[in-house]
Amino acid sequence: MSIFNRNKKSKLSNLLFRNYILSYLITTFILMITAFILIIIAAYLYMDDEYLVDNASTYMKDDYTQIDISKLVEKGGYMDIVNDKGDVIYSKGSRPNDKTNYSTKDFSIVFSSNYYDGFDSKYIYKTEYNEDKNFLLVIGIPKDQQSPIIKPKRRMKPRSFVIFSLTLSLLVFLISFIIYSKTSSRAFIKPLKALMEGVKRVSNGDYSTRIYLKSNNEFGELRDAFNTMAEKIEEQERLNIKSEEMRRRLILDISHDLKNPLSSILGYSDLLLKQNDLSSEEIDRYLLIINNNSIRANGLIQDLFDFSKLQSNDFKLTFNKVDMCEFLREIIAEYIPELEEKGFTYDFDIPEESVYLQVDEKHLMRAFRNIISNSLKYNPPGTSLLIRAYKSENKFLVKIKDNGIGIPKELKEDIFQPFTRVDSSRNSKSGGSGLGLTITKDIIEKHNGTIGLNCDTNKGSEFTIYFSII
Ligand code: ADP
Repeated sequence: MSIFNRNKKSKLSNLLFRNYILSYLITTFILMITAFILIIIAAYLYMDDEYLVDNASTYMKDDYTQIDISKLVEKGGYMDIVNDKGDVIYSKGSRPNDKTNYSTKDFSIVFSSNYYDGFDSKYIYKTEYNEDKNFLLVIGIPKDQQSPIIKPKRRMKPRSFVIFSLTLSLLVFLISFIIYSKTSSRAFIKPLKALMEGVKRVSNGDYSTRIYLKSNNEFGELRDAFNTMAEKIEEQERLNIKSEEMRRRLILDISHDLKNPLSSILGYSDLLLKQNDLSSEEIDRYLLIINNNSIRANGLIQDLFDFSKLQSNDFKLTFNKVDMCEFLREIIAEYIPELEEKGFTYDFDIPEESVYLQVDEKHLMRAFRNIISNSLKYNPPGTSLLIRAYKSENKFLVKIKDNGIGIPKELKEDIFQPFTRVDSSRNSKSGGSGLGLTITKDIIEKHNGTIGLNCDTNKGSEFTIYFSII
């Protein structure tokens, strides 16, 4: 079960790893898009516009008739092929004149054109000499068409492009970092807030606080631990309130129960002291009342003393190895005369064999006596009492059953609480303290045993006591 749970648990580190992978994928995706955008930008920045080649050597061909200057012609340019005598042996394009021969001045203009723009010419000239075929290629480009031949400048310098790319990458990194920290912090902040809220409420005294958090990682474990802690504190608080209530009720009950016999003792003793003309019968009657009330007060104080002693943390039982069957037979034997005297019928079923348990004889005897005495005390003559003991697996069971007036079902549990009496009238004729069964239960539980009541008002009461045989 625990292994299964363990496997199902996802750790925070797994969550962080998952987030990391997720943000890595997102970053890669964004980076790919960025790279794509950068490539497009770069392509745009470095793509040259179409421009006319301003270098005659580019046009040069040995067979000058094959030279293609169509683009140049579109812009109003032309070309001349001049031989070593200065004769124009071939030309193309819209020439400004119909010269058949280049003069020295013409050559001077043509050659200087690259460096010097001072001639009164509408053209810029580019020249290239073909050594093999011995001719000069002259290209004339109209001055007003000069701009297309100037290579367009790059829109951005390489350094700026690098800075731009770095900034963009940094931005992408920043975005992915934000995504990662946001998703990861959400995994921490939400449960932390819920836990903090819970802690605050518990520290403010609201012990019913429970944390509802969907999580099966370490925060889930923390939530479970917190809820268990809050549950325990709540239970402890409930017990504290209950025990405080019980303490108050105890004081009230004790004072109430002691008040009656003591007032009676006080009243009759006063009468005896002050009245000198009392008959001997009256004196005997008053003394008997005083004696009975003293016995009652004494019994109450004794029960109270035993009860308090059992509640004390320092109280320790003295255990000895005892044969429980023999032990029960001894207790029963004590009660036979009283059972006979009160007209009870009885039946005892105690095994012959020995069953040994570690018990505190003195106190356990007190526990059994309480139960048997109650049967005799509260039930009419003719009631039958059955005491049965037997071993069942590793348990030793004792059943004490009578068919008397019984105990109401609703008191099944409460009857073991201090001062619980079926006859709620405080002036109970029986004179019981209501502590007997509380003391019995305490003693049995201190022997690691349990006691339960099976009751039905018309069918009497049955107490079942279990002891573990170790
Ligand atoms: P008490 O000191 O008053 O006898 P107990 O705790 O021993 O206190 O018993 C609680 C109450 O349970 C008694 O007051 C009595 O009303 C009822 N009771 C206990 N045992 C029996 C019994 N065998 N038959 C009928 N009533 C009983």
